[in-house]
Amino acid sequence: MIQGIGASAGIAIGRAFVLPNWEWELPEQKIDVADFAREFERVYEGIRTSKSEIEQIKDELREVVGSEETHIFDAHLAILDDPVFMNEIQGIIQRQYKAAEVAVKEAIDHFVTMFDLLDDEYMKERALDIKDVGNRLLKHLLGAPEITLPSDTQPFILIAKELSPSQLAHINPQHVLGIVTLAGSTTSHSAIMARALGVPLIVGIEAKLEEPIQTGQSLIIDGSDGKVFINPEQPVIDVYTELHRRQVEAKNRLHDIAGYRPVTPDGKMLSLAANISSFKELEIALSSGAHGVGLFRTEFLYMDRNRFPKEEEQYEVYRSVAEKLEGEPLVIRTLDVGGDKQLDYFELPEEDNPFLGYRAIRISLDRQDLFKTQLRAILRASHHGQVKLMYPLISSVEEVRAANRILEEAKRELELEGLPFDNGMKIGVMIEVPAAVMIADLLAEEVDFFSIGTNDLVQFTLAVDRMNEQISHLYEPYHPALLRMLRLTVEAAKRHGIKVGVCGELAGDLRALPLWLTLDVDELSMSSHSILQVKERLLCTSQAESREVVRQLYDCRTSTEILDRLIAFMEHIDNKTANG
Ligand code: PEP
Ligand code: MG
Repeated sequence: MIQGIGASAGIAIGRAFVLPNWEWELPEQKIDVADFAREFERVYEGIRTSKSEIEQIKDELREVVGSEETHIFDAHLAILDDPVFMNEIQGIIQRQYKAAEVAVKEAIDHFVTMFDLLDDEYMKERALDIKDVGNRLLKHLLGAPEITLPSDTQPFILIAKELSPSQLAHINPQHVLGIVTLAGSTTSHSAIMARALGVPLIVGIEAKLEEPIQTGQSLIIDGSDGKVFINPEQPVIDVYTELHRRQVEAKNRLHDIAGYRPVTPDGKMLSLAANISSFKELEIALSSGAHGVGLFRTEFLYMDRNRFPKEEEQYEVYRSVAEKLEGEPLVIRTLDVGGDKQLDYFELPEEDNPFLGYRAIRISLDRQDLFKTQLRAILRASHHGQVKLMYPLISSVEEVRAANRILEEAKRELELEGLPFDNGMKIGVMIEVPAAVMIADLLAEEVDFFSIGTNDLVQFTLAVDRMNEQISHLYEPYHPALLRMLRLTVEAAKRHGIKVGVCGELAGDLRALPLWLTLDVDELSMSSHSILQVKERLLCTSQAESREVVRQLYDCRTSTEILDRLIAFMEHIDNKTANG
């Protein structure tokens, strides 16, 4: 068995198809000055063809996974339109007398190397985009055939060095059972697309492979825990065939429960909301039966542009989301940039520890002009629905008070201008820094609700960078310390009579459900893709039984013990459900 990183859940069983590398033969001879115009025209022609091809991919993809995932290709179109890219190509043709295809290849290599050298995951992803779109352009210049996947054979498990979004867009989930890439990360565009397509994906197995996987080899992969079995023995095949059968069954069942009320067999209601980062994502959330939006990550509104969005632009987006929700709650989180989320046009200082640095509420309180613009837009949107406001990365009472002071100023301004807003708009804070947990009782006196951000809370509690693959095994949401942190937070909220929800990834983790039921949290907010699965478990997990198992968890000394008990409990529920 080879241990990779699970990037898109699901089991696949089948034969391997190894994708050949995209390598080109380039012409060696130099060109003449008289040929410059012709070579430029060839590049332009290649760009035109590439663009219409990308538009076609976008259309096809929209039909399969919806419009949300196609924005990846907008980034490709933007690269083809970027004068810096074109200038580099023209420069190489003119200065070095090289043919169009050689110039394009060198320009790609130049930018990819430049971006790759930066110690920044986001820029590395951009390098992958340039390589992908550059290869498309090169393919047209060389008249090279597309590398196609077999469609006339049995469905297969695709093996590739790395997979670009372009290549993934061509994938028909009917033919591709699953994917394994030697390189790659769980946060890449390709991983996001694989999840949207529902194709199991495992990345990062290069260092673990003793010899290359061959086309035709028999494979089993499990995208939920990153396991790859090459030529598995019969007992392994039997276990995974059964697991796979159950997964398919479960998927089919899920569609039926979208309209059900989220309630346990013993009558405990638990609100299931969606995490979104754009208006477009709201469609998927609503079709998954989400009860409102528990986390609107507004920073994505600030990305993919070259200046800060104006009040009016933000207001339009927030208002559209609020109206579409027709009175269901919408929690808008103020700008949470810094750390791994950068804005091209907003230069953040070079920092040794960006995750502990100038970010989120710290930037908002420093740049009050930007903050007030966002607060005014959110306040104005509050007139059109049940809008709530949430501050990220809070670590002190002073921060909440300072933010609220600016909010009060924004309210006064709007009043003077005669613009309507909800004066009783609820204010909440993210609990995602250990300090906030320890002063949860004090914070609870300042706000109307808490939302626990487990992604950052795990990272800061365990001092484990959430982006660092080398220590990813230490990133343990079920660490006993976390259990205690969660209990402290929820108990403080309850004592002060304020609402408490969870909006980190752990909210969508089925194993954690007994914990939320026992702590009696008010809401779980998660990726839309997890909502139905969590609802299905909720419908068969009683609060009383959850309490019994969770009581024992506080005596456990390790994450493994905690997880083992939670998994055993899930199996117990499964057996009970299966036996009627
Ligand atoms: C979190 O930290 O858990 C969270 C929900 O916020 P983000 O993932 O955007 O940091
Ligand atoms: Mg966070």
